[in-house]
Amino acid sequence: MYAPHFDYFRAGSLAEAHRLLDEHPGARLLSQDVRAACGVLGEAAGRIGDPAVRNRGTIGGSLAHADPGADLPTVLAALGAQIEIAEPSGVTRTMPIDDFLVGMMATALGAAEILTAVIVPALGSGQGAAYEKFAHPASRYAVVGVAAAVTVQAGVCKTARVTAGGLVPRPTRLEAVEGALVGQPANAATAAAAAAKADDDLGEDVIGDLFASAGYRRQVITTFAARAIARAIERAG
Ligand SMILES: Cc1cc2nc3c(=O)[nH]c(=O)nc-3n(C[C@H](O)[C@H](O)[C@H](O)COP(=O)(O)OP(=O)(O)OC[C@H]3O[C@@H](n4cnc5c(N)ncnc54)[C@H](O)[C@@H]3O)c2cc1C
Repeated sequence: MYAPHFDYFRAGSLAEAHRLLDEHPGARLLSQDVRAACGVLGEAAGRIGDPAVRNRGTIGGSLAHADPGADLPTVLAALGAQIEIAEPSGVTRTMPIDDFLVGMMATALGAAEILTAVIVPALGSGQGAAYEKFAHPASRYAVVGVAAAVTVQAGVCKTARVTAGGLVPRPTRLEAVEGALVGQPANAATAAAAAAKADDDLGEDVIGDLFASAGYRRQVITTFAARAIARAIERAG
């Protein structure tokens, strides 16, 4: 899913940015809005593959490809994103990402359907999100990836969405972990105790391969879940 043709200007100062906006009616400021509203997306995107991969890959392509080791599907699942799909008739429909990603390299896209938009709720006051991955040393795909998004009020964790990717066929909500966070003090000890429950949610479908066995991934996820949750809590504060 590539953006249509556009001209790109890099302003060297605020004054130049004002001048460029004045000279080019319809011009839009790029990127900083996404970082401000949902910094975890930039954080995860910046850790995909290498510069050559990052410069060519697209968000739509990553979602439609649905590789279990891809980073953005795991992060977008934790953020509760909605996916917009255009049908050949011209009708569009929107569905939660949990319904869009149906299995390993499999999505709800039908023949000739196109993913046209990804709608991501902005993080508000008291909300924080983070992504941690154990990356394959060659491809940088996630061997284990965990994304966490939390709401903290008065030092207590009020909501939590935690997803695992890389070691399961599709991004998977860690509901036992989420349950162990909600209503608890928002701190690193709670994050570690909740992360210890990650294995309860993984089921029997944990991926093992030449690089890392399923048992190894089951062990490693606890550490990465604890880190992601603790950082999400920190950012919510
Ligand atoms: C060496 C290497 C390392 C990588 N490392 C990582 C990594 O660390 N983390 C990570 O997350 N990813 C990684 N990737 C994946 C990469 O970031 C891209 O997501 C992936 O290669 C898909 O590329 P693309 O976006 O150009 O999609 P394409 O290759 O163009 O498309 C992929 C599939 O999706 C379909 N498609 C594309 N756009 C749409 C759309 N809008 N609607 C419907 N169908 C569509 C295409 O028809 C095709 O079937 C890596 C890839 C490579 C080659």
